[in-house]
Amino acid sequence: MQAGQIDYQSEYSARLKNVVIEGGTLTADCPFCHDGAGEFHVDISTGRFWCHRCYEYGNLARFISMTENVTADEAEEQLRQKYDVY
Ligand SMILES: [Zn+2]
Repeated sequence: MQAGQIDYQSEYSARLKNVVIEGGTLTADCPFCHDGAGEFHVDISTGRFWCHRCYEYGNLARFISMTENVTADEAEEQLRQKYDVY
């Protein structure tokens, strides 16, 4: 792993179900759609996510803050330390 680069693919994959990687896009069940299905997409190069059904979108820190009990600032700080990103 290269320092200074967040591994978006594994960070999202670890928190999602039914992950499919195709080209530069990750697709999975959306954790924000009520029925647990949905069309959740991640651009692996930028780390930004969006869902075509519930219209949630954002970056990895926002995603972590919505799925775990942390704020987006705390999530961002954790990622910075883990990947040595500044
Ligand atoms: Zn959704």
